[in-house]
Amino acid sequence: MTDLRAHLIRRITAGGPISVAEYMAECLTHPDMGYYATRDPLGTAGDFITAPEISQMFGELIGLSLAQSWLDQGAPSPFVLAEAGPGRGTLMADILRATRSVPGFHDGLDLHLIEISEPLKAIQQNTIGRDDITWHDSVASLPDLPLFLIANEFFDALPIRQFQRDGDGWRERQIGVQEGMLTFGLAGPVVPGGLDHRLDDTKPGDLVEFCAAGQHAAQQIGQRIADHGGAALIVDYGDWRSLGDTFQALENHAAVDPLTRPGVADLTAHVDFETLANATPSRFSRLTPQGVFLERLGITARAQALAKNLSGEALQNHIAAHRRLTHSAEMGTLFKVLAFYPDGAAPPPGLDP
Ligand code: SAH
Repeated sequence: MTDLRAHLIRRITAGGPISVAEYMAECLTHPDMGYYATRDPLGTAGDFITAPEISQMFGELIGLSLAQSWLDQGAPSPFVLAEAGPGRGTLMADILRATRSVPGFHDGLDLHLIEISEPLKAIQQNTIGRDDITWHDSVASLPDLPLFLIANEFFDALPIRQFQRDGDGWRERQIGVQEGMLTFGLAGPVVPGGLDHRLDDTKPGDLVEFCAAGQHAAQQIGQRIADHGGAALIVDYGDWRSLGDTFQALENHAAVDPLTRPGVADLTAHVDFETLANATPSRFSRLTPQGVFLERLGITARAQALAKNLSGEALQNHIAAHRRLTHSAEMGTLFKVLAFYPDGAAPPPGLDP
């Protein structure tokens, strides 16, 4: 038995069942035993692989979209370039390289990373290789300056609560202990704030998810953009409005039961983009499939340019990577992009108002 499972069983036995959000928070961010506290989860040797780890093209195009947005807003300086959940730092390194030729961009930028994982902070420092990085535990402490922010696969890691429709009300899905095992159950009827609108599109028995931490982060990011200018690109799997159970666990690139490997498997849920859009005081773009977004930014031309210097297996891998990022049977449709931007500005390139 992992120490974290023993800890959870003790906690639930003493205090009663916990919400899915409390379980996720313990499993992912417990300071000693949590998933992100104890490992580098990314890449082929880890549990999952992300777009910037698949190809440099992803970060290059994100960087150019953010830099164009910065130019369109009059090249404010100084400004904050930030990433929420930077993983190994690959995406930020690609953004910084791709924007080197944008006049003034590197002179004005102040680099801020939102990260809770100590092992990943060390890898980020190494990958990015700058001595002026400021780390934050949450977006709430970002400075009050124009903010250009990327969050790729950040919001899916934030704890969600799950509610099952029961008549005209809701019962929260909880995690309890039965015969020494962690099990799912349902709490008594509750009236959760923020779910009234879901009585319109659900029927009894349906399950909906709500991410308060995501709502709060979106509000904090959007407030800075509304007040000082900037843009945020939020890329993740999910949809405008989620329906059904999307709580999932991954270990070694395979799905596992979310209750059997606490602290060892990665836990995520699909992102409910409507919640983020409703939370931001700024404008927000139309929710756009990742494949469409990258094609609009010219990924095919970039892929062809890079292919010129490749042959054999490297070329085959490069072609597969392009397909993986954009094709609708791979990441192209499941992953979506939502941007925040201020009044009076255009959305970042690749997205519609
Ligand atoms: N954006 C990267 C990594 C995605 S993995 C990429 O595309 O490769 C999720 C990242 O978010 C990791 O860096 C993880 O440590 C971080 N993270 C997860 N939960 C967090 C939280 N509550 N606060 C801050 N960072 C978090």
